[in-house]
Amino acid sequence: MLKEQGPRPFLQRQKALEALGTEFFDVLVVGGGITGAGIALDAASRGLRVALVEKGDFASGTSSRSTKLVHGGLRYLKNWELGLVRSTGRERSVNHRMAPLRVYPEKMLIPLRRGGLLHPLSARLAISLYDLLAGVEKKDRLRMLRAEQTLALLPQLRPDQLLGGALYTEYQTDDSRLTIEILKTARDFGALLFNYLEAVAPVLNAQGRLEGYRLRCNLTGTEVQVAAAVVVAAVGPWADLMRRRHGLQENILHLSRGIHVVVSAVRLPLTVPVYMDVLADKGRMVFCIPRRGHVYIGTTDNYFEGDPDFPDIPEEEIEYLLQAVNDQFNLSHPLQKEDVKSAWTGLRPLLRRPGKKSTELSRRDEILELPDGMLLITGGKLTGWRLMAQKTVDRCSKVLRKRFGKKVVACRTAQITLRDVGPGEPARPDLWKDMVRGWAAQLPDGPDRSEEIAENYGRAAEKIVQRAYEIYQNDRSHGS
Ligand code: FAD
Repeated sequence: MLKEQGPRPFLQRQKALEALGTEFFDVLVVGGGITGAGIALDAASRGLRVALVEKGDFASGTSSRSTKLVHGGLRYLKNWELGLVRSTGRERSVNHRMAPLRVYPEKMLIPLRRGGLLHPLSARLAISLYDLLAGVEKKDRLRMLRAEQTLALLPQLRPDQLLGGALYTEYQTDDSRLTIEILKTARDFGALLFNYLEAVAPVLNAQGRLEGYRLRCNLTGTEVQVAAAVVVAAVGPWADLMRRRHGLQENILHLSRGIHVVVSAVRLPLTVPVYMDVLADKGRMVFCIPRRGHVYIGTTDNYFEGDPDFPDIPEEEIEYLLQAVNDQFNLSHPLQKEDVKSAWTGLRPLLRRPGKKSTELSRRDEILELPDGMLLITGGKLTGWRLMAQKTVDRCSKVLRKRFGKKVVACRTAQITLRDVGPGEPARPDLWKDMVRGWAAQLPDGPDRSEEIAENYGRAAEKIVQRAYEIYQNDRSHGS
């Protein structure tokens, strides 16, 4: 048996929960997805006393169920949302600088077919505008390919109706790991973070103003009441449920379900990530992203009505994605349901606009102030987490100044490096991966998994490898 180090985590948690009830916080953040994590980091790095509570695992909501791209949203150009494309497009390189291992550029191919959403000319215009708005460096800008060059790059594509391809740059990430890194960095700045702690009831003063929240531990049932100057709800698809806790019955969200399916890269061998037309559903496009021996395909965009804790994965949406791939690629055996190794589903918390479909609704974020003073941030994208946090904490600062005379400094998150790559300036993912490879060589499957360990655990990789080695040695000495 390995020796247990330090106080038992459970007792430690109980003590921390008790302490939580005795403090007065500048900001209490409800929701541990990327939006809440960003707000906690922004507020704590401005010197505010912050607590964040999450009812399940951190990033267990939409922030672990996205397409895992940090992108400006090429398709938002269709609705002329130039401001959104510009700001999120520029955030890609800010994110890359903050977390070079977690957010990295990669080429993406759009096959251009007769009758598709983009024609070579419109692709050239739209993506050049996208590159310009996002301030993309020359080496990463759009390259147009002729049909034969497109097929040389990706021979599995069906050649019929193919007019060419557009090769441009997007940024990939691991959404939940990015969220965790933001949270860990927020903790470095002094934020208190609790998972499995649900905000169950607002605490109002005699004037009906919110001055704290009653929280319930979802592991033990223990309740604690926490006092805060400002309470921010960053609860994604749970925003309507949260509003109901504040006596507001009208739904403001349109939840849009998006599913992804995962197949083996042997069944869909891709040399490059692809963003392609759904040929049977004109106007829609989906991604096929290769990652570590698998390819994930997504996403759908359909209205969801039900409990946001249990979004479903309808069979017809799985078939829709498989059909989209089979129509684009010339595979030796078309993909079938049996090829699907796993799937995930997420809900986009979009703001309702009567008469509009999911695909037509803006991905813009919005901060709403409830009558009792709670700030509720909703909408938005993973990519825009830092800007959303800045806007929200600026709003909190106004309240803190007006009601408590507290001056708050300006946002500084663009200068922060997340706890992503190991020590060394400037942060160099390649050197870090080499170092992790060296440590992991001691483990039986270390050489195969070192890249994954470096990417998943960032600076904690050394500890993880060391711990795995202790377990391995321990098993060997017990003959198992
Ligand atoms: P969530 O991640 O849902 O977090 C809210 C959290 O609040 C949850 O963890 C929940 O458990 C917690 N909570 C709720 N109620 C309470 C309570 N009472 N007490 C305590 N905690 C509570 N964006 C991109 O930029 N790139 C993409 O590639 C991309 N792809 C997407 C694909 C799909 C299918 C979907 C659905 C979205 C995609 N998005 C993408 C959008 C992006 O994922 C979301 O905008 C983002 O993750 C929302 O984060 P959030 O923190 O606001 O919400």
